[in-house]
Amino acid sequence: MSMQIDDVFTDLINPSEELGGLVAVFSRVLPGSIIAISKDGVLEKDSGFPEIAPGALVELDGSSRNTSGIVSRQIGDCSWVYAYYLAEHGAVCFFVIPDSNSDLVADQRLHTLYLQSLQFAQLQFSHDEVVLENVQFNRQFEVLVCKQTELLDENHRQFVLIQQKERDSARKLEKEIEQQTRDLRAANVRLAEASRLKSEFLANVSHELRTPLNAIIGFAGLLAETSLQSDQVEYVQAVQRASKTLLVLISDVLDLAKIEANRLELDCRPFSLKNLLVGVTDMFVFQAREKDVALSCEIDQALPPAFIGDDNRLWQVLVNLVGNAMKFTRQGEVIMRVSLIGDDSGQCEIGFAVEDTGIGIDPARQKMIFEKFTQADGSTTRRFGGTGLGLAITRQLVDLMGGRVDVSSIVGKGSIFSFAIKLKSCDLHEVEDFRKDRDKGKKESSSLDIGQVGSGDSLRVLVVEDNPLNQRLASILVERSGGQASVAVDGSQALKMLKEEDFGLVLMDVQMPEMDGLTLTTLIRDLEGTGGGQYRSLIARSQPLPIVGLTAHASPEDEQRCYQAGMTDFMSKPIDLEKLGRIIACISGRLKISEKE
Ligand code: ADP
Repeated sequence: MSMQIDDVFTDLINPSEELGGLVAVFSRVLPGSIIAISKDGVLEKDSGFPEIAPGALVELDGSSRNTSGIVSRQIGDCSWVYAYYLAEHGAVCFFVIPDSNSDLVADQRLHTLYLQSLQFAQLQFSHDEVVLENVQFNRQFEVLVCKQTELLDENHRQFVLIQQKERDSARKLEKEIEQQTRDLRAANVRLAEASRLKSEFLANVSHELRTPLNAIIGFAGLLAETSLQSDQVEYVQAVQRASKTLLVLISDVLDLAKIEANRLELDCRPFSLKNLLVGVTDMFVFQAREKDVALSCEIDQALPPAFIGDDNRLWQVLVNLVGNAMKFTRQGEVIMRVSLIGDDSGQCEIGFAVEDTGIGIDPARQKMIFEKFTQADGSTTRRFGGTGLGLAITRQLVDLMGGRVDVSSIVGKGSIFSFAIKLKSCDLHEVEDFRKDRDKGKKESSSLDIGQVGSGDSLRVLVVEDNPLNQRLASILVERSGGQASVAVDGSQALKMLKEEDFGLVLMDVQMPEMDGLTLTTLIRDLEGTGGGQYRSLIARSQPLPIVGLTAHASPEDEQRCYQAGMTDFMSKPIDLEKLGRIIACISGRLKISEKE
C-alpha cells in the first residue's frame, strides 16, 4: 500500500511541470495553507486530526523539513495515512487518507484527489488568468472610459466653442445685415427723395417753359390776326408751328416724369369706345386727306359699346400710334383695328392694332424705339421730326393699363403696333349718367351770374397772374372779348383788389409763388360763405363770383383740382380766345345759357 501511495506521491513530488504548476497555484492561491481531506471528505478539527497552523512546517514522525513523505498513523480507532508534500515556499500540501480502506481505494482516492487537485489547479489557473484578464480588461476599460470621457469632454468643449463661434458669427452677420438694411433704407429714402425732386424739378421746369411758350403762342396768334405781308404770315405760322410742337414735347416730358415717379394714376370712368375711336380717327382725317393716305378704323361688332377705363390715356396711346403711322407713311393706308379677344362675364380683353404701309422699322431697332429719346435711325428727326418720346410714353401707359405694346414690321412694307388690355364693359347709359353727373357738377359751380352786369357795361375782369407776358396777353384777350382787365400779380394783391373794387370775373392762374390759385380760390369761397365781409366783389351777390382757372398743366387731374378748390370753370393755356369770349359774353348777359358751348 505504502508503495502505491508513494508512487503517486513520487509523481506528485517529482518536479514535473504539472506538479510545479500545482504547487505554484496552491502557494499563490492558498499561501501557507494546508489542504486536508478527511475520511468523509470533511475536515473536522476535533476528529483528532493534528492541527497545523497555516504556514507551519509539519513535523511528522521526525520527518525532516523540506521532505515529502507518507506516514501512517493511528488516531482513535481509525488508522490514517498522511501524504504530504512540503512545498518550496513553506506551504504544505497535506493529504489525509484513511487507512481502514483497501490500498486500492486509498490509491484510487489519492489518485482521484491528485487529478481533482490538478483540475482544480487548472481551473484556478484559468480563473486567475480570467481574473487577471478581467482586471486587465477592467483597467483597459477604465483607460478607455477615461479616454472616452476625455474625448467626450473635448467634444463637448469643441461643440460649445463651435456654438459660441456660430453665435458670434450669426450675431456679426445679423449686425451686418441690419447695417446693410439700414444703409439700403437710407439709400432708398435718398433715391425716392431724388426721384421726387427730379419729378418736381421737371414739373417746375416744364411749367416755367410753358409759361413763356404760351405767351409766344398767344402773341403769335394775335400777330397772325393783324394785317401782315405774305412772308410775315409765313414766319408767324412757323413760330406757331414750332411753339406748338414744343408744347407737345413739354407735355410728353411731364408725362414721362410723372410715370417714372409713379405719380401717374389712371382715372377710370365709363366711356364709349366707339366715340373714342371715331374721335382719334377724326383727328387725322385732314392729314390723311392731305397726304392721300387712306385712314380707316375697323371695330369688331362683338365689342360691347362701353367700358370703364381711363379714356384720356387710351386716347393718348392711340393718338401716338396713329400719329406715328401717319407720319411714317407716304402712301397706302393706315388702319386702326379693334377687336374683342375674350369676354369673361363683362371682363373683356380688347385688342388694338395700328397698321400702316409706311417705311417700316429695321428688326434690330424694333426694341429700341420704345426707349426714351430713341428713334429707329438718326435721320428720322431730320426727315420726319419728332423726339422719340411718344412710344416710351405709349409703352408705359399701356403697361399701366395692364397690357404690353408689341411691334412687327418689315422695312419698306409697313408696321403693326398692337396691344391688348382688359376693361370691364358697361352700358352706354352709364356713360350718359356719368357725363350728366359731371356736367351737373360743373354747372352747379359754374352757374354764371348772368345779367348782373348790364349788357352795356363791359365786364370787369381781374387777371391774377404772376408772369408779365401772360398778364399782358390775358389782358389783351380779355379786352378783345369785350371785358375790362385789371391785373393782380399775386394772391394778396388780388384779395386787396377784390376788397376795393367790384369785379364780375376772376381769371386765376393756378401756379403762382407765395399763394397758388387753388388756395386763393378756396379763401375767396370761404369769404363768400361768411357773407363776403368787406369785399366789394363778394358782397351782395346772388351767385358766387365766377373764377376761371388758367393752367399750363392741362391734365384731367389738374382740371379736377380746380373744380375741387371751388373754381367755376377751367381753361388750359394757351388761352382759347373763343372760349374766353363766350364766358365773358355769358357773364355780361350778352349770351343766353342755351348759347353756351
Ligand atoms: P418720334 O415719333 O417722336 O420720333 P416715337 O417714340 O413715337 O418718337 O417713335 C420712335 C421711333 O420709332 C420713331 O422715330 C421712328 O423711327 C420709329 N417709329 C415709330 N412708329 C413708326 C411707324 N409706324 N413706322 C415706322 N417707324 C416708326
